[in-house]
Amino acid sequence: MSKSILDSEPKRFWHHFNEICKIPHESGNESALCAYLKKYGEDLGCEAISDSVGNLIIKKPAQNSNSTKTIVLQGHLDMVCEKVPGSNHDFAKDPIRPMIEGEWLTADGTSLGADDGVAIAASMAVMEDKDIKHGPLEFLFTVSEETGLDGAQGLDASLVEGRTMLNLDSEDDGVLFVGCAGGADSNVKIPFKRISLSDDLSVFELKISGLKGGHSGLVIHENRANAIKLIGGILSNLSQHGKVLVSSMDGGTRHNVIPSVANVLFAVTKSNEGLVDKSVSELTQSLKDEFSSSDSGLTVELSNAKANEFMDEDSSSKLIRYIDSSPYGVIKMSEDLENLVQTSTNLATVKFLESSVEFLHSSRSSSKAELEEVRASIRRNVESVGGKIEEPGGYPGWQPDMKSELLAFTKDVYKKLYNVEPKVTAIHAGLECGIIGEKLGGMDMISFGPELEDVHSPNERVKIDTCERFYSLITNLLEELAN
Ligand SMILES: [Zn+2]
Repeated sequence: MSKSILDSEPKRFWHHFNEICKIPHESGNESALCAYLKKYGEDLGCEAISDSVGNLIIKKPAQNSNSTKTIVLQGHLDMVCEKVPGSNHDFAKDPIRPMIEGEWLTADGTSLGADDGVAIAASMAVMEDKDIKHGPLEFLFTVSEETGLDGAQGLDASLVEGRTMLNLDSEDDGVLFVGCAGGADSNVKIPFKRISLSDDLSVFELKISGLKGGHSGLVIHENRANAIKLIGGILSNLSQHGKVLVSSMDGGTRHNVIPSVANVLFAVTKSNEGLVDKSVSELTQSLKDEFSSSDSGLTVELSNAKANEFMDEDSSSKLIRYIDSSPYGVIKMSEDLENLVQTSTNLATVKFLESSVEFLHSSRSSSKAELEEVRASIRRNVESVGGKIEEPGGYPGWQPDMKSELLAFTKDVYKKLYNVEPKVTAIHAGLECGIIGEKLGGMDMISFGPELEDVHSPNERVKIDTCERFYSLITNLLEELAN
């Protein structure tokens, strides 16, 4: 008989995790899980309230303690649903099938939903536990975290009393997170005039591929190449030898992904045709040298092509100048926390329309002022080429507070439990803490979790024994906070 996860410790945690796997809960489809939790809380005598966007708050009174300090335990209800190619798993009705692989729990052919099922399972176990000592508890379960932090954005702040919060949605055993980045996009539109092909032009297609790309927050410090910037750099260089007319350009996929592919169709005057080959191959070599460790797969392809319409010379040179002078990558590192990016921006996509070219920039910072500053630099660049910009609201960050009382408590408890100092850091990506912190005001927060790998993929897995450590840290911390 194969080993069951139900034999692992803590038993009640794994029991709940296993039950959660049976209830579909893709982003936007959390209502069944929400109803299940609501009933579970009410059956235990707790008060359960939903807000208008579907977040659930369950309140458990203090137990074995006179503490009046309310602690919030927070996680998200939804999971990212990914499956292996060819799978006919239906996430709307089929259960996730967890399976043990050595020291890890993974799922059969799909993502597991340990992100953030571990938070729900741990909350349920705490909710039913009659023995541990704790002050008043609020379990805050949010919806649609994975699709844009929508639940946190729509949270009815009046329903939450606690100002001390444990966010149970991070992925590194032994690490306490004390901050996250806020983020905001800039949507840019640069108008241009089209002209038709004249006889003295030679047309080329230039393609960049083979870059690593990756999450524009989590790996931005690796200084990976940005395909759109590479195209801009090459065109800028070519334009020093004579006019370059752009016909079309395309690159990138999503705002939170470093573009790994981009291509451009452009023309030079026939007399400069020979220069293009030579310059591009020289530039390719120097780019390969520059990015040899971060992007060893960098490929630049140049070929003869056909096109009938182009941006006029002025529009083309503005476009090239725009890309070349756009900020990208790491803007500033943190002074408080080692190796943490404080501010960055990603030139994420470029798209050609009938009479304009569109860019999407996505910026992040744990400092509100710096986020505004990097957005302003993008705005100035847009204005300098006569473009238009839209700047939607974005979401707030969570600035690390190294003097936090909760941090001191958590470090202490961790050290008592495991005899080592936990690592304390922040994440250069969005967590719900940023939004919830701003909504509620005056929050003291910390985020931790068990060891998860390859989340948001069919390989998602959680290291089984780290869940016991995760759960012990929660219960011991609650006891300590209730003294
Ligand atoms: Zn998550």
